[in-house]
Amino acid sequence: MTVRTRVAPSPTGDPHVGTAYIALFNLCFARQHGGKFILRIEDTDQSRSTGESEQMILDSLSWLGLNWDEGPDVGGPHAPYRQSERGDIYRRHAEELIASGHAFRCYRTSEELDALREDLKAREIQRALKPSDLELSADEVARREAAGAPYVIRMRVPESGRCEIEDMLRGNLELDWAQVDAQILLKSDGMPTYHLANVVDDHLMEITHVIRGEEWINSAPKHKLLYEYFGWQMPVLCHMPLLRNPDKSKLSKRKNPTSINFYRRMGYLPGALLNYLGRMGWSMPDEREKFDLAEMIAQFDLKRVSLGGPVFDVEKLAWLNGLWLRELSDEGFLSALMEWSFNRDYVMQVLPHLRSRVETLSQVAERGAFCFSGLPTVTAAAFDHGKYSHEEMREWLQYLLWALEGLRQWQRDAIFAEAQRIAGAVGIKVKDMLHPVFVAVAGTPASFSVVDSMEIIGSDLSRARLRQAIEVLGGVSKKQAKKLEKNWQRIEQGLPLEAADKE
Ligand code: GLU
Repeated sequence: MTVRTRVAPSPTGDPHVGTAYIALFNLCFARQHGGKFILRIEDTDQSRSTGESEQMILDSLSWLGLNWDEGPDVGGPHAPYRQSERGDIYRRHAEELIASGHAFRCYRTSEELDALREDLKAREIQRALKPSDLELSADEVARREAAGAPYVIRMRVPESGRCEIEDMLRGNLELDWAQVDAQILLKSDGMPTYHLANVVDDHLMEITHVIRGEEWINSAPKHKLLYEYFGWQMPVLCHMPLLRNPDKSKLSKRKNPTSINFYRRMGYLPGALLNYLGRMGWSMPDEREKFDLAEMIAQFDLKRVSLGGPVFDVEKLAWLNGLWLRELSDEGFLSALMEWSFNRDYVMQVLPHLRSRVETLSQVAERGAFCFSGLPTVTAAAFDHGKYSHEEMREWLQYLLWALEGLRQWQRDAIFAEAQRIAGAVGIKVKDMLHPVFVAVAGTPASFSVVDSMEIIGSDLSRARLRQAIEVLGGVSKKQAKKLEKNWQRIEQGLPLEAADKE
């Protein structure tokens, strides 16, 4: 048997360090067994998936040196590797399950579903919705079908009992069928859900080991049942521990930057980031701190992953990165620096903005320094403005941050349009709105166009600097965040903020 593993990210945002972590362990396992590592793009959620996000995932995994043998860009014997291009395959398989009696067309409306759930609750029955709750009489189905009512395809699931799942790290897991709903397999728009697409693809792509995050454990019973319905052998399952913030909560971008691009732009070495991810729940047999990918593969043993939630601690990562940097030769250091930002392409983006603002070449480094740094040191006093308070500025920065998180194309005019939109809604001049943005991004209001600066330094660093500024200006408490979120929704709907909605 050839070992085949995969990483299957959904391209719905910034490339996440968790994706790199799972990719790393899949890659090590495959390489150690002389097997293949596959990259599959799970983009069936069409409203949230974007081509830009997919490209960023490909770029950032390549930057890290996590090279895949088959994938949407390199192809392979089981192409296509992008789920949005495999719609017919899923539809065929869903129909097959209907024919074999393992799935059914469900014509229930969302109001009916709500009522069914309410009814269970009223009767104090704690279980998921089952086929017996959902199925309509044959007449009613015929009536709705004739009327062209939309339907989904759902799988049949047992009403009760225990489901046993074998996990490589966790041994035998027992889950309760009562909590497993009659999962939708095919949505009313004909697109599959994660569960159907994932199982069908893992089988057709001959995946032997599914190594993924522990948040998928609860999906395992549905997957196991689908393998049984299709008469296929289920791959070996291995659920990795989730990465955590230092306070042990699930790693989230509110507390820790989670985008691989952030670490890239901050000047971490790809090898050091991989090294750090390799130490999340795993260690070398001799416990050494610094190792590269080849060394990790040579010593790899998946069974030695420990389940205590590994903490992704930026300070420790920085320490490790320092170790890597110090061990580089001068030539190696120079190459790393050039690859990072001191290269023709990047410098040429900065220079046109600086040229007209200097009298001597010696001023270039000082005035452009913020384009070659991570998070600049800024003090609250730097934000002082004759007319507006720190509190107000903090609020605008928070709106801008939310606006920029939704931006698809990181481009100066689009960023400016967002600033204009917010200034308009708040009732201030764009110039004033941009004052704290200048300080956050460039450290001073006296720099070249801040939207150009943001385009150059990229979305990850820009957003990190805005986040830093919000903290320097006193931070936003949970309570304030709730209020700001309400205001933000009004801005999103194009409604002006009423006086009562302001501070
Ligand atoms: N698309 C899922 C994700 O985004 C894949 C989960 C799995 O590996 O089965 O993580």
